[in-house]
Amino acid sequence: MSASAVTAVREQAGDAWEDWTWQMRHRVRDVASLRAWLEPTAEEAAGIERLAERFHFVITPYYAALMDPANPACPIRRQVVPNVLELEDSQGLADPLGEVAHSPVKNVIRVYRDRIAFCVNNECALYCRYCLRKRMVGEPEWAMKRRELEAAIAWIRATPEIRDVLLTGGDPLVYSDDRLDWLLGELCAIRHVEIVRLGTRLPVTLPYRVTEALCEMLARHHPVWVNTHFNHPKELTPEAAAACDRLTRAGIPVGNQSVLLRGINDDVETMKALCEGLVRMRVRPYYCYQAQLLEGTAHFRVPIERGVEIFRALRGRTSGFAIPQYVLDTPHGKVPLAHPYLRGRDGDEVVVESFDGTLWRELNPTK
Ligand code: SF4
Repeated sequence: MSASAVTAVREQAGDAWEDWTWQMRHRVRDVASLRAWLEPTAEEAAGIERLAERFHFVITPYYAALMDPANPACPIRRQVVPNVLELEDSQGLADPLGEVAHSPVKNVIRVYRDRIAFCVNNECALYCRYCLRKRMVGEPEWAMKRRELEAAIAWIRATPEIRDVLLTGGDPLVYSDDRLDWLLGELCAIRHVEIVRLGTRLPVTLPYRVTEALCEMLARHHPVWVNTHFNHPKELTPEAAAACDRLTRAGIPVGNQSVLLRGINDDVETMKALCEGLVRMRVRPYYCYQAQLLEGTAHFRVPIERGVEIFRALRGRTSGFAIPQYVLDTPHGKVPLAHPYLRGRDGDEVVVESFDGTLWRELNPTK
């Protein structure tokens, strides 16, 4: 769709364009509705048809408007439009982190002693083609009924080690304000729950969801943290910046967790632009994940050595707090991946390598 055609759609929608519920109701769901935005390639059209039963296809109009209709390699388009390449993966697994085996109660994942991921919702505003939870998102069997939410809350209440609860999914911000308010109220009433985090991609894919009313409600349950998921500088729009600003002005620290994706952000300049743009929005680049060995994602995976070199190249070239920690998630927790700056001990000194390759010796206590 040309820029003028996007403008025409927005004008036709009028004020409703910025209504998140209108966006949810008018999502792209098939080839016919995608054609309103771009002409799919043969690989994309076949992907939509052949993958329909395996992993859902949905895009918000807001995010669709960011796609480049003239470029099938567009980093926005590749994240959300199916492609037959998803069928060419002989190694990917349905549940590479063994989350099912780490689940004491429906949709609660516990890898660490003191914190859990609580998949409160099976829905997102759109479905990312590399989603770690593609086995769950959009699937009715993973939806949480009220009594199932209450059962999970009861488990948390009965497990005093849990001090940090991450609400994830799917996307917790697809919930209504009232439902989220109830859930946060229940969790915050548990004495040993010290913080609640929300893992949400809606500031990126549907920033109109982050209303003033939502932020006021979240602020009533502090300390609440948000981790969102920007992958490319094209996603750093004025609308997304305004959504993050509303969150941070409500006293909610906002961090970003990206995924290293082939052809999308696996080069130094793109990652630098992403991280520096996030910092300008007062969003802290927190983690960058190595793409998991997940079914249907071989065309997105990047060798770990390349990821290490990208983040090594950023060191010394931008602010330290603009560089996320590059990690591989495993069934045994996250593993930091980094160039070995610490070369080791030599007598009573330690040898380290600076960002420009200079070796430095520093006196180092032995105990
Ligand atoms: S928003 Fe998150 S949970 Fe939803 S499809 Fe994308 S990566 Fe998966």
